[in-house]
Amino acid sequence: MSDNATTLNDDLELEVVTDIDPAPASTDDTDTATAESRPTKRKPTHALALAPVGSPPSSVDGFVKEFLRELNFGQGVALSTSTVNDQYMALAKTVRHYLMARWLETLRRQFQSQAKGVAYLSAEYLLGRQLGNALLATGLTEIVEEGLDQCGIDLADLRAQEVEPGLGNGGLGRLAACFIDSLATMNVPCVGYGIRYQYGIFRQTFVDGRQVEQPDSWLTLGAPWEFPHPEAAQTINFGGHTEHYTDTDGVERSRWVPGWKVKAVPYNYMVPGYQNGRVNTLRLWRSVATDAFDLRIFNSGDYEEAVRAQTYAENISKVLYPEDSTPQGKELRLQQQYFFVAASIADLLRYLLPKDYDLHNLPNRVIFQLNDTHPVIGVPELMRVLVDEKKMDWDEAWAITQQCFAYTCHTLLPEALEVWPVELLGRLLPRHLEIIYRINEEFLEQVAERFPGDHLRISRMSIIAEFPERAVRMAYLATVAGAKVNGVAELHSQLLRDKVLPDFDEFYPGKFTNVTNGVTPRRFVKLANPALSELITDAIGVGWLTDLERLRELEPYATDEEFRERFREVKAHNKRRLNRVLEQRDGTSVDDTHMLDVMVKRLHEYKRQTLKLLHIVTEYDRIISGEVAAADITPRTFIFGAKAAPGYKIAKDIIHLINGVGSVVNSDPRVEGRLKVLFPPNYNVTLAEKVIPAADLSEQISLAGKEASGTGNMKFALNGALTIGTDDGANVEIRRLVKDDNFFLFGLLEPEVEDLYARGYVPSSYYEKNESLKRAIDLIAEGAFSNGDRDMYASVVGNLLHEDRFMALADYESYIEAQDKVAAAYADTEWWTRAAILNVARCGFFSSDRSMRDYIDRIWHTPPAY
Ligand SMILES: *Cc1c(COP(=O)(O)O)cnc(C)c1O
Repeated sequence: MSDNATTLNDDLELEVVTDIDPAPASTDDTDTATAESRPTKRKPTHALALAPVGSPPSSVDGFVKEFLRELNFGQGVALSTSTVNDQYMALAKTVRHYLMARWLETLRRQFQSQAKGVAYLSAEYLLGRQLGNALLATGLTEIVEEGLDQCGIDLADLRAQEVEPGLGNGGLGRLAACFIDSLATMNVPCVGYGIRYQYGIFRQTFVDGRQVEQPDSWLTLGAPWEFPHPEAAQTINFGGHTEHYTDTDGVERSRWVPGWKVKAVPYNYMVPGYQNGRVNTLRLWRSVATDAFDLRIFNSGDYEEAVRAQTYAENISKVLYPEDSTPQGKELRLQQQYFFVAASIADLLRYLLPKDYDLHNLPNRVIFQLNDTHPVIGVPELMRVLVDEKKMDWDEAWAITQQCFAYTCHTLLPEALEVWPVELLGRLLPRHLEIIYRINEEFLEQVAERFPGDHLRISRMSIIAEFPERAVRMAYLATVAGAKVNGVAELHSQLLRDKVLPDFDEFYPGKFTNVTNGVTPRRFVKLANPALSELITDAIGVGWLTDLERLRELEPYATDEEFRERFREVKAHNKRRLNRVLEQRDGTSVDDTHMLDVMVKRLHEYKRQTLKLLHIVTEYDRIISGEVAAADITPRTFIFGAKAAPGYKIAKDIIHLINGVGSVVNSDPRVEGRLKVLFPPNYNVTLAEKVIPAADLSEQISLAGKEASGTGNMKFALNGALTIGTDDGANVEIRRLVKDDNFFLFGLLEPEVEDLYARGYVPSSYYEKNESLKRAIDLIAEGAFSNGDRDMYASVVGNLLHEDRFMALADYESYIEAQDKVAAAYADTEWWTRAAILNVARCGFFSSDRSMRDYIDRIWHTPPAY
C-alpha cells in the first residue's frame, strides 16, 4: 500500500467538493458546504471512493505526512517545538479529514434519498473523549500508533490531552451519546440536536473533603471536533405579544410579535459509525446576539447597552444546568429549551427538506424524539410554525404534530416532572402558551366526552395544573402530543403506566411502550477495555461488537480453566491501568490484591450512597470493635465517583462524609490496610472508562421503584463485574438474564416499598432493632470521622434517622447480609470468575444497538437507509 492517505486527501480536494449536490430545488445552502466551496458549474462526479469497510484507509507513511502537514500548517509549529496540545490538535484534525469525506457523502445521500430519519432532541450529550472513538470508527488506531511512534510520540499521551465535552449531567446525557453512536453504526439517518454549552458540567474538586465546583472550560485549548456554521444560523424569538387577525381567505389567524431575539449558530460534530463509512451529525446550537439588535443599539449610540445585550444573548448557551439546583435561573433554563428546539425544528425544515416540500408528508420524513421533557416546548413550536407560518389548518397541523413526536420519560420521582409556571411561559413565549391552552382545551373535551361528568379525572389530566400555581405540566403535554411514550426499563415502563400516568394509559391504549436502555459496546467495551475485547475476539471471533448478543458464545468458556485464568489476568491488567491513572491524577492507588467495589454515578439520595457508606462503616466497626480480626476481612477497595448538584445541600454533605470516612479508614493502623476508600474527584466518562473495566463489584443499590433504568449497571456487567443490587430499573432485567446465582439481590421490592410508605416508614425503629446499624450510625454521629465533631455530619445522620424518603435503613440488614455473601463468594476465585464471565456472556441485550432496534420497531419506523 503506497500512499493511500494522500490519495484520499486528493479525493477530498478534487472530488468531494464537486460531489456536493447543490441540493435539488435547493434552499440557500446544503448542510456543510460553505457558499465559497459550493460549485455551481462543475458537474457532479461519482460517489467518493471510500476505503472498503474494515480495511485501513491509509498507510503509515501517508498518515505521517498528513499529520506533519497539520502540525506545520495547521498548528504552525515544527515537530521539534510542538507541545502535546499541538500534537493532539494536529492528530485530531488529521483523523477528522479521514472522516470528512464520509460525512459529506452521508449528507449527500441522505438528502437525495429523503429517507425517514430521527431528529433526536436532547438538552444533554455526555460524549466523552472523541479521538479514540474516531480512530476506532476509521480503523486507524494501529496506523496512527505506528506513525506517531516514528515521530517519537506516544498516542496515549495525545489521547490524555483531550478534554471531554461534558455537555450533560449523567445517565440521560450519556444515553443520548450512546444512541447516536448506535444509529450511525446501524446506518439509520439521525441528526442529534442539542446545546453547545460554553461551560459543561462543572469540574469537581475537594477542599477539606467538601465539593468545590470549578467552571469546565472545555473549549480553551481548542475544539478540533466542531465545525461552526454561522451561515446556517437561525433567528430565535422571545417575549412580545400575539395578534389575531382575519386573513384574506377569511380565516382567523394569530401571529406572534416577539419582543426580542437571539441568533442560534449551529456547530456540527461528526458521529461516525463503527467502520461502516457512515458519519451522522450532531448539531449543537450556540446563542449569539443578532446583528440587527446590535445595530439598532449601536445606532442609538449606547455602547454599554450593546455589550449588555450581547452578554444577555450569549448567556443562553453559557452553562449546563446541573439538575436539582435551586429554582433561580429557571427562566434561563426555559430560554435554553426553547432556543435549541426552535432552532432545530427550523433547521430541519430549512435544510433537510427540499424546497416546496409538502409538510403533510412530514411524518414520513422525520420523527422528533424527546429525550425527557426538556425539549417538549417543540410541540407548540411545530404547531406554531405549521399554523401561523405555513398557514395550515389547525386540525391538520395537530394530526401531523401528533405523528412527528415521541416522548421518553426518564423518571419516577414526581418532583422531577417538569412544570413551567404559566406566568413565566406566557411572558417568554406568549403564542406558545395560547397554543398549549388550545391543545389542552380540545384534549379535555375528548376526555369529557369519554368520561362524562368525571370532573376529578378532567382536572387530574389537565395539561395545566392549578396548584400550587398555574403551570404547564410538560410530561402531560408530551404524552398528549406524542405518538408513543416510552419508559426506559421494563419495571419503569410498568410503573409509568400504573403510577405516574395511569389516566393517560387508560385514555390512550397502546400509546405506552418500553424500550430498555442500552450502552454502546464500542466505547464501553472495545475502547474502555481493550484487553477484554481481545480475549473475547480470540474466543469467539470478530462480529460481537456490532451484534452483542453473540457474547452468548462465551458461555462455554465460563467452565474453561485456561480462559478463566486469562479473564482474571485481564481484570488484574485493568486494575494496574487504573492505578496508573489514579496515581497520576490523585496520588492514590488500588491495592491489586483487593476486591474492587465500585459505586460511581450522580450523587442523589435515591441512589443511596449513604447505604454503601453504612456498609463500609460496619466493616470498619467490625475490625475496631474486635468482632473480626482484620486479617479475616475480605480486603476491599471501595471507589466512589459522584458529583452533587451545586444547590443540593444534603448531597454535598454526603460527599463530605464519604471523604471523612475515607480518611479515617485509610489511615487507621488497626485496619491493616484491608479496607480502603477512594473518592477520585470529577467523575466523568473518561474516568468511567478506566474504573469500570477494573471493577469486581458493581453497586446498584437505589430504593426499588426509584431508578428508572440505570446504564452504569449495564456497563459494569458487560465488563465482568458482578452486581449487588436492588430489584430496580434495569437491574431486574440484568438479574433475569445473568440468572439469580450470578447476581447479589437484596432489599425491599417495589410493592413492599409502597406498602411501607403506606404504613409509615419509621427509620429509628430499624436503628433501635439492629445493633450493627446502631453502632455504625453512632460512630458517624459521635464524631469518629470528624475528629470528635458531632455537628459535622449531623445533617446526614438526622436525615437518615428521621426523614429519608429513600429508606436506606430499611434495606440495611438485607444489604449487609448480601455483602457478606459477596465476600464469601469472592474468596472462591473460580466461582467468581465463572460468574463474571457469565455476566459478560449474557448481557449482550444491553447494547444500545438493541435499544435502537426497539425504538425503530416500536416507535420510529426508520429502517437503515441513507
Ligand atoms: C453511565 C454513566 C452515568 C450513568 O450511571 P448510572 O449508574 O446509570 O446512574 C453517569 N455518568 C457517567 C459519566 C456515565 O458514564
